[in-house]
Amino acid sequence: MRPDPFTYHQPQSLAEASSLVAELGDGATFYAGGTELLLLIKMQLAKYDHLVNLKKIDGLRKIAVEHDRLVVGALATHNDIALNPTVSKHCPSLSRLCGEIANIRVRVAGTIGGNLCFAEPRADPPVLLAALDAEMRLVSAHASRVVPASEFFLGPFETAREPDEILTTIEIPLGTGTASVERMKQGNYSLATAAISRRERHQTWIGFGGGPPKRLGGTGALLDRDYGRTSEEALFAAVAEDIVDLEIPSDIEAGESYRRHLIAVAVKRALASLHETEATGVH
Ligand SMILES: Cc1cc2nc3c(=O)[nH]c(=O)nc-3n(C[C@H](O)[C@H](O)[C@H](O)COP(=O)(O)OP(=O)(O)OC[C@H]3O[C@@H](n4cnc5c(N)ncnc54)[C@H](O)[C@@H]3O)c2cc1C
Repeated sequence: MRPDPFTYHQPQSLAEASSLVAELGDGATFYAGGTELLLLIKMQLAKYDHLVNLKKIDGLRKIAVEHDRLVVGALATHNDIALNPTVSKHCPSLSRLCGEIANIRVRVAGTIGGNLCFAEPRADPPVLLAALDAEMRLVSAHASRVVPASEFFLGPFETAREPDEILTTIEIPLGTGTASVERMKQGNYSLATAAISRRERHQTWIGFGGGPPKRLGGTGALLDRDYGRTSEEALFAAVAEDIVDLEIPSDIEAGESYRRHLIAVAVKRALASLHETEATGVH
């Protein structure tokens, strides 16, 4: 399908970009790699009269360590992150994940910020970033604020970002711990994603295609108690208990009970991957 005509804006600063979207209202949105947005527009699932390109704004693609944090610019593509030596040194789970997302055509154009702001419920980075205690920096023409990844995602395609706020960086505290992420993939996307971080305490987070990433408190507590000795039976029971009240989708790709099983398998694999990383020191 041909998209309806729109005006393409190329602001040079964050203030200019944010003001444009604030002034133009609902008919305007930010544009990064376009891998989600252009599909929606072409399929006429979304209509915008104005696209505000963020790619001309300096500094949004940087990746650096600053004050004990890994700072990833929102305009960094999945490929930038996967190939960046600073990310592979300080946050190997993120570099591995970004190297596996989608296909090379999407990875060279699609940005981490676009992935997070789109909030597709099957997306993988939100799950890992929640487990890593990452924070999102949001900037508008008048203000700047930081939102923890655990509070950024509100539901399918819904985040805490206001329409005129630009996600500028994702900031990951650097600790001495390790982290892992595993996906149960079907087609382009994951049916279930699990991430485990092992810092002062264990954090286990899942994505299940139906809502924001969810923290599995009982599973984390089990790992705090029994790390290295956890039986598969105990792990599956803890996950099942943690997700018992979750509304898990059932659709043409997978039924609810199969998805519940896949969530447990993803957690099991993430745990095995964490053990392997720690045993071999090879991330
Ligand atoms: C074939 C295919 C396979 C995929 N497989 C996976 C997968 O396995 N796992 C996974 O997690 N994802 C997957 N994706 C999703 C992919 O990661 C996203 O399409 C990509 O990251 C979106 O980034 P973008 O820069 O293209 O965003 P755009 O399409 O440019 O923007 C998406 C949305 O975010 C907003 N936005 C973008 N950047 C910002 C910003 N900095 N501040 C504020 N708002 C912003 C836009 O206004 C728009 O609403 C897949 C996508 C495709 C097409």
